[in-house]
Amino acid sequence: MQGSVTFCVESVITTAVPNNGKLLVLANGAYGLRIAKIAERIGISHSVIDRGEVTPLSPDRIEQVLVEDQEFTHVAVVHCETTTGMLNPVKPIGDIVKKCGKEYIVDAMSSFGGIPLDPADIGADYIVSSANKCIQGVPGFGFVIALKASIEKTKGRARSLSLDLYDQWATMEQHHGKWRFTSPTHTVRAFFQALIELEQEGGIAKRFDRYRKNHEILIKGMTSLGFKPLLPKKYQSPIITSFLSPGHPGYNFKIFYQKLKDQGFVIYPGKVTQNDTFRIGNIGEVYPQDMRRLIGAVESSMYWYSKKREKN
Ligand SMILES: *Cc1c(COP(=O)(O)O)cnc(C)c1O
Repeated sequence: MQGSVTFCVESVITTAVPNNGKLLVLANGAYGLRIAKIAERIGISHSVIDRGEVTPLSPDRIEQVLVEDQEFTHVAVVHCETTTGMLNPVKPIGDIVKKCGKEYIVDAMSSFGGIPLDPADIGADYIVSSANKCIQGVPGFGFVIALKASIEKTKGRARSLSLDLYDQWATMEQHHGKWRFTSPTHTVRAFFQALIELEQEGGIAKRFDRYRKNHEILIKGMTSLGFKPLLPKKYQSPIITSFLSPGHPGYNFKIFYQKLKDQGFVIYPGKVTQNDTFRIGNIGEVYPQDMRRLIGAVESSMYWYSKKREKN
């Protein structure tokens, strides 16, 4: 589906859930809540289990909700919640969703291609991901891997013409992969090249190893400089990490960010509301030696700490 990946998520939500259906959104961050916002804006009946930002989703609680309200037809969850870097247990949740006979939608935007994930194994009816994250292509479209039996039922359900996922799929099937409206040609070509490079790297398992190595160096280095990750290790993905901002009164994110940028590293502001944080991603064409250079750049950007370091 053309567009940024929110377009793609929106096409799934607004095509998959029928008028008499009801969506259960499992949220623990901004991207989970965005799915609920999509449903709300278009008028799809839905409920949200909102676990805040630092609490993992509990499969037991989900089962309870699905049993109590038989109107639910679909369940949506984010795999790697990019807000914090939390990895949600999509397989145990999928087992519950399938046991309850519901359709399962997984936003695997920031994990697919970088973390091994088998759509059939987790019971997903729809997995949504993007050209420009772990696949390492450029932005311009997202893609949906759907169970044929599920998407075949959705003809005429879409609330929007351009985001009609069924029609997009049917057109591609009938016209040998032709996009329904103008195709993002350069992005598709870059995606093709990105897939070749993924293969050359040794596939997803090898890329996962590299991301894990990058992440290990990041955590070790940042911890040695006195930074603390927001999440406990067991919930943390190897994709993006939230760090608590230094409590030092001289710390200022903008200056820290600029000092890092001057040395060639761009980090992300924090996205959680309850703590002051910043985020560092380690996916893309990034290798252990780059992560080591980053740690050196962080150390030399810790201007607020320099007096104490000089004394030592
Ligand atoms: C990046 C991302 C998206 C899509 O964001 P866009 O800005 O629309 O490309 C959706 N969900 C998750 C979990 C993401 O990481």
